This record gives sequence, structure tokens and C-alpha cells, in this order.
Amino acid sequence: MLESCSAARYNKDMNITTIAFDADDTLWANEDLFVATQQQYMQLLAPYRHNWDAAELHAAERRNLNYFGYGIKGFTLSMIETAIEVSDGAIPGRDIAAIIDMAKAMVHAPLTLLPGVAELIPQFAQKYHLMLITKGDLFDQEAKIARSGLAEYFRHIDIVSEKTPHAYQRILQRSDINPQSFLMVGNSLRSDILPVIAIGAHAVHIPYHLTWAHEHVDIPPHERSWHECESVYALHDWLADR
Ligand SMILES: [Mg+2]
Repeated sequence: MLESCSAARYNKDMNITTIAFDADDTLWANEDLFVATQQQYMQLLAPYRHNWDAAELHAAERRNLNYFGYGIKGFTLSMIETAIEVSDGAIPGRDIAAIIDMAKAMVHAPLTLLPGVAELIPQFAQKYHLMLITKGDLFDQEAKIARSGLAEYFRHIDIVSEKTPHAYQRILQRSDINPQSFLMVGNSLRSDILPVIAIGAHAVHIPYHLTWAHEHVDIPPHERSWHECESVYALHDWLADR
């Protein structure tokens, strides 16, 4: 497949001065780790109830977002809660300990930067003000940013609890950034693209091969008013073209 960007309502007069990147599944792989852990977890619970599916876990995750927010800790509590439900209260302490060990392994899993990121983020930083805007657990996200080796390229790093239009507006106002000159780049339509379009700023969607059910939205192509790039390489070429 060609590395390219499609552009809906392509605007040649766009004058971008600030580019903000999402982190998980935009700069580095993340969802793969959750999917792999979930598979391990399903195996652990197989003896307690046959033929149950991950929908129960996903429902617990959604319910618990209001209590625990995004990230590994919230996911772990949802795994424990679901284990209690699936086993009808019979899950022993040693299996709960195994779930907690899975969570610890997630925290220490190696960070894999996505193709082009290590090479191109420093290049983007020479030409644009770069920001990192991510949601999730503060401790976990800060650790990943440090391990990525990319922190020095971002003028601002924001870890927010939810990526709403209001959250983006607050970030832009704080740094005195005009929405017209702001471009957000991310893998989630729900968190990185739609709220940014809603405040009149620009957005580039770089889809990732895995999308968490909670982030999934269906929008027909003719209603799309953002740009879509296949990779950070394609984003680079698209920006250079402008
Ligand atoms: Mg993401």
C-alpha cells in the first residue's frame, strides 16, 4: 500500500504552527499489550466458566471509567471485578494475584515506538511547536514518555483525564494558540479527531491496526472533515507538500 494521506475539504491556506500528538498507538504501540493481556486473562478464567466472552470485561471497563479513569490500574480492577462475576465469587486469592502480576508485567513491558516516530519527531520539532496530549494514568503515561526518549522535543506535555472539546480548548487558551494554526495527530477518532474538529482546529487521523472498543466510532466517509494519513511518514510528506 502506498504511504499517503487522503484529505477531506483540503484547505491549502492552512497555516499550522503547532502540532500536538497523541501518545498511545500514535507514537508507540499500546493496545497490543492490552489485547495480549486479555488473552492471558481469558485463559486464566476458562476453568470457571466456559463460553464467556470479553464483552463482560469491556462492559466492566466502561462502567469503571467513571471511577478509575483510563489506564492499566483501571483495567486491572475491571479484570478482578469480572473474575469475581465470571467465577460467581469462587475465584481464589492466587488467581487474583496472577491478575495483579499481569498488570505489573504490563507496566514494565518494553515500549515500541511506531515506524517513523524516532526519526521524524525531531524533524517536526525543528519546524513546529510540538505538544503531546494524552489521556490516562499520570504515573504510567509519565513513565512511558520518559522511556520513549522523545520528551525533549515536546514544548508542552498534557495528560488529561478525558479528551473533550473543552479539554482541548483549555490547552489552546493556556498557550495562546489559535485553533486555525493547531493540528492534532492521533489514532482515535473519538478522542483525537472529533473534539478537535469541534473547536475549529485541524486534525490528522493515523489509524492503528487495533482500536479499543470504547474508542470506536463509525462515521461515513462523506461526513469526514479531517485528514487521514497511513503513517507518520505520510504525515511528514503531507506537511512538506503544504
Ligand atoms: Mg491513542
